[in-house]
Amino acid sequence: MFCPKCGAILMPKKDGSKRIMSCSCGYSSKDLSGAKISEKLETAKKVEVVDREDYETLPITKTECPKCKCKEAYFWTIQTRAGDEPETKFLKCKKCKHTWRDYD
Ligand SMILES: [Zn+2]
Ligand SMILES: [Zn+2]
Repeated sequence: MFCPKCGAILMPKKDGSKRIMSCSCGYSSKDLSGAKISEKLETAKKVEVVDREDYETLPITKTECPKCKCKEAYFWTIQTRAGDEPETKFLKCKKCKHTWRDYD
Protein backbone atom coordinates (compact mmCIF):
# COMPACT_ATOMS: atom_id res chain seq x y z
CA MET A 1 0.00 0.00 0.00
CA PHE A 2 1.38 3.38 -1.00
CA CYS A 3 0.82 6.88 0.27
CA PRO A 4 -1.62 8.77 -1.99
CA LYS A 5 0.10 12.01 -1.07
CA CYS A 6 3.80 11.32 -1.66
CA GLY A 7 3.91 7.76 -3.05
CA ALA A 8 6.06 6.30 -0.28
CA ILE A 9 5.33 2.90 1.23
CA LEU A 10 2.91 3.17 4.14
CA MET A 11 3.85 1.71 7.51
CA PRO A 12 1.29 -0.08 9.68
CA LYS A 13 0.68 1.64 12.99
CA LYS A 14 -1.61 1.00 15.93
CA ASP A 15 -4.01 3.76 16.83
CA GLY A 16 -5.80 2.65 19.95
CA SER A 17 -7.82 -0.39 18.96
CA LYS A 18 -7.65 0.47 15.26
CA ARG A 19 -4.95 -0.42 12.80
CA ILE A 20 -3.96 2.39 10.50
CA MET A 21 -1.38 2.90 7.80
CA SER A 22 0.80 5.95 8.23
CA CYS A 23 3.45 7.74 6.20
CA SER A 24 6.45 9.84 7.18
CA CYS A 25 4.88 12.80 5.33
CA GLY A 26 2.07 12.89 7.88
CA TYR A 27 -0.57 11.04 5.91
CA SER A 28 -2.50 8.28 7.66
CA SER A 29 -5.38 6.15 6.53
CA LYS A 30 -8.38 6.39 8.82
CA ASP A 31 -9.67 2.86 8.85
CA LEU A 32 -7.91 -0.06 7.26
CA SER A 33 -10.68 -2.61 7.47
CA GLY A 34 -12.39 -2.92 4.12
CA ALA A 35 -10.65 0.08 2.62
CA LYS A 36 -8.73 -1.97 0.10
CA ILE A 37 -11.78 -3.90 -1.07
CA SER A 38 -13.92 -0.86 -1.79
CA GLU A 39 -11.00 0.68 -3.62
CA LYS A 40 -10.81 -2.34 -5.88
CA LEU A 41 -14.55 -2.34 -6.55
CA GLU A 42 -14.48 1.30 -7.54
CA THR A 43 -11.74 0.70 -10.06
CA ALA A 44 -13.68 -2.12 -11.62
CA LYS A 45 -16.81 0.00 -11.84
CA LYS A 46 -15.06 2.82 -13.65
CA VAL A 47 -14.78 0.89 -16.90
CA GLU A 48 -18.23 0.83 -18.34
CA VAL A 49 -19.43 -1.66 -20.86
CA VAL A 50 -19.43 0.15 -24.15
CA ASP A 51 -21.77 -1.11 -26.80
CA ARG A 52 -20.85 -0.96 -30.44
CA GLU A 53 -22.91 -0.40 -33.55
CA ASP A 54 -20.32 -1.85 -35.91
CA TYR A 55 -20.01 -5.19 -34.11
CA GLU A 56 -20.63 -7.14 -37.31
CA THR A 57 -17.17 -6.15 -38.53
CA LEU A 58 -15.47 -7.36 -35.36
CA PRO A 59 -13.54 -10.61 -34.97
CA ILE A 60 -15.23 -13.57 -33.32
CA THR A 61 -13.84 -15.55 -30.42
CA LYS A 62 -14.84 -18.79 -28.75
CA THR A 63 -16.34 -17.93 -25.39
CA GLU A 64 -19.48 -18.66 -23.48
CA CYS A 65 -22.16 -16.00 -23.26
CA PRO A 66 -23.24 -15.59 -19.61
CA LYS A 67 -26.80 -15.05 -20.74
CA CYS A 68 -27.69 -17.57 -23.42
CA LYS A 69 -24.65 -19.89 -23.21
CA CYS A 70 -23.89 -19.31 -26.87
CA LYS A 71 -20.32 -20.34 -27.67
CA GLU A 72 -19.32 -17.50 -29.98
CA ALA A 73 -18.99 -13.78 -29.40
CA TYR A 74 -17.60 -10.71 -31.10
CA PHE A 75 -14.76 -9.09 -29.19
CA TRP A 76 -12.80 -5.85 -29.07
CA THR A 77 -10.38 -4.22 -26.68
CA ILE A 78 -10.20 -0.71 -25.29
CA GLN A 79 -7.19 0.97 -23.74
CA THR A 80 -8.47 2.67 -20.62
CA ARG A 81 -6.95 5.82 -19.18
CA ALA A 82 -3.31 5.32 -18.18
CA GLY A 83 -1.05 3.48 -20.58
CA ASP A 84 0.33 1.21 -17.89
CA GLU A 85 -3.04 -0.43 -17.43
CA PRO A 86 -3.91 -3.55 -19.36
CA GLU A 87 -6.44 -3.36 -22.16
CA THR A 88 -10.04 -4.06 -21.32
CA LYS A 89 -11.70 -6.74 -23.39
CA PHE A 90 -15.34 -6.53 -24.31
CA LEU A 91 -17.45 -9.31 -25.72
CA LYS A 92 -20.76 -9.27 -27.56
CA CYS A 93 -22.76 -12.44 -27.95
CA LYS A 94 -23.38 -13.47 -31.54
CA LYS A 95 -26.80 -14.83 -30.72
CA CYS A 96 -28.51 -12.69 -28.09
CA LYS A 97 -26.34 -9.55 -28.58
CA HIS A 98 -25.57 -9.36 -24.87
CA THR A 99 -22.45 -7.26 -24.22
CA TRP A 100 -20.15 -7.87 -21.28
CA ARG A 101 -16.68 -7.16 -20.05
CA ASP A 102 -14.00 -9.82 -19.79
CA TYR A 103 -12.40 -9.47 -16.37
CA ASP A 104 -9.59 -11.93 -16.93
ZN1 LIG B 1 3.35 10.29 2.29
ZN1 LIG C 1 -25.88 -14.72 -25.66
